[in-house]
Amino acid sequence: MDKFEEVLEKMSEMSEKQLKTLIEMEKKRICICRDCSSFNQCIGENKDALFCILGKTNCKSEIVNCMCSECPAYTKFQMKHTSYCANGSEEEQRTKIV
Ligand code: SF4
Ligand code: SF4
Repeated sequence: MDKFEEVLEKMSEMSEKQLKTLIEMEKKRICICRDCSSFNQCIGENKDALFCILGKTNCKSEIVNCMCSECPAYTKFQMKHTSYCANGSEEEQRTKIV
């Protein structure tokens, strides 16, 4: 089990409230998507972020560049994929269900 799978397991043990709080906190604290050139106005207005966990945005997204590999969470949790806002979460891309 790698770090990302450990995180998913920990998250699955949390209550809905704990999970919601954690997601909102990490959206602001760790996610650097808002500085990415692919992050558009619609995504910002929807307050979308943390796509590696939450999956694709409902907004139309065009990948100009992906900064995920520069994000501290990316290295810490041994992620392997990118462009999560358009291609789906790390879990989805690993299991190719997108
Ligand atoms: S890896 Fe990408 S989507 Fe995930 S928190 Fe970092 S910047 Fe956001
Ligand atoms: S997931 Fe990657 S491409 Fe999408 S907004 Fe975040 S850093 Fe940019």
